[in-house]
Amino acid sequence: MSFANLGLNQLLNRSISDQGYEKPTPIQEKAIPEILSGRDVLAAAQTGTGKTASFTLPMLDLLSKHANTSVSPAKHPIRALILAPTRELAAQVEESAKTYGKYLPLRIGSVFGGVPMDPQTTMLRSGIEILVATPGRLLDHIQMKAVRFTAVEFLVLDEADRMLDMGFLPDIKRIIDLLPQKRQTLMFSATYSDEIRSLASKWLNDPVKVEVAPRNTITETIEHTVYKVDDFSKRDRLVDLISMRDMKQVLIFCNTKIGANRLSSYLDRKGFSAQAIHSDRTQIERMDALAKFKANEINFLVATDIAARGIDIEDLPFVINFDLPPNPEDYVHRIGRTGRAGQKGEAISFAGNEDGECLSNIEKLIKVKLQSKSSLTRPTSGRRLSSAKKSEDPLFDKPYVPTAKSDELKKQAVKKVSSAGTEKAKNSNKPVAALFMPRSSAGGK
Ligand code: AMP
Repeated sequence: MSFANLGLNQLLNRSISDQGYEKPTPIQEKAIPEILSGRDVLAAAQTGTGKTASFTLPMLDLLSKHANTSVSPAKHPIRALILAPTRELAAQVEESAKTYGKYLPLRIGSVFGGVPMDPQTTMLRSGIEILVATPGRLLDHIQMKAVRFTAVEFLVLDEADRMLDMGFLPDIKRIIDLLPQKRQTLMFSATYSDEIRSLASKWLNDPVKVEVAPRNTITETIEHTVYKVDDFSKRDRLVDLISMRDMKQVLIFCNTKIGANRLSSYLDRKGFSAQAIHSDRTQIERMDALAKFKANEINFLVATDIAARGIDIEDLPFVINFDLPPNPEDYVHRIGRTGRAGQKGEAISFAGNEDGECLSNIEKLIKVKLQSKSSLTRPTSGRRLSSAKKSEDPLFDKPYVPTAKSDELKKQAVKKVSSAGTEKAKNSNKPVAALFMPRSSAGGK
């Protein structure tokens, strides 16, 4: 099937072809016609399947009747509200909606925590048709009376399972109570729990169920590997792996913020450009790190689970689980950052001595046995770490081992320096000592 058969308007088809998409992904093929026909949709779609476009495209199509260039805020009421669990995901969805809707005069924006409220309030007051929000910050704006929901036609709950995991249920309930009863509701979740199904039955009206991959399965284009490692040598083994494979763009997961910070500093010290993202870093720092990672200015992004939600990097080749996630569903979310939209990807995990149960829970959930590799040893010679920053002088890469010869060399070097100094001193008519003094005391200007 081609996009032309889905019934989207010309302006959207134009932006789709600008993106270079050749055909709809399975979730798009199934969800877009249902949403266009006005049905509520409950979709089980894992991340990386093209789910964002599957709801933003038909929503933009249906809202295009309201598109206008008036400067009056009254002409731009909120028509669609998209709730997302994290700032990263909200920013990502906003970016996608803007990309697909670039030929339509519809205003699209987002509100999330960690950045000042004022610019968001100004944006809301000047009118916006599509609002992407994290629940907490949206409630702050509701309290400040900066938003009105009377014209809302669409509600999207993106990554609903994660919003529940993060404890947003009371916030979401409060927000939904403020929305018009008559609306179209779309609920997306990577994984389905009974709680999700029960909430869907309250919030959605006779929804069409769309499922593109069986419950909790993962993309087939991803290769899964596990290395058995000792906890105390994990960091070295990681360095070996990324050097041997000459990895240039790797998203690495740690279970804790402290762990992520430590690992990122360690990699940096070893000459690999790395940054950490987690909830203790400011939103600006997180966005900056992500932008640098996407632009290949840094090679390694070390993340915790929450910070990584919504990260969408085209053609990300590797995800490494430096720590195995205790919750096996997080494995699905983590590795969903690679192998997106049919691309190949590798998910590599490190399993310590205590991780046996965790590993078998993951394998049970995804119904795939992770290919086990045990040898991860440092090559002995002749290797240059190409993704590591190179030292100015190879001497700095080698450990210093004093020998009789090195003592001799040192003496020669000292001699050389003092004779060079004498030579310079002769030329400048200054005493040798003055050459080793700070400029001012040596009489320099
Ligand atoms: P999502 O699952 O929404 O996070 O999307 C994952 C990635 O797939 C994004 O980088 C999209 O740009 C890309 N994508 C979405 N739809 C298509 C398509 N029909 N063909 C190729 N790539 C797509």
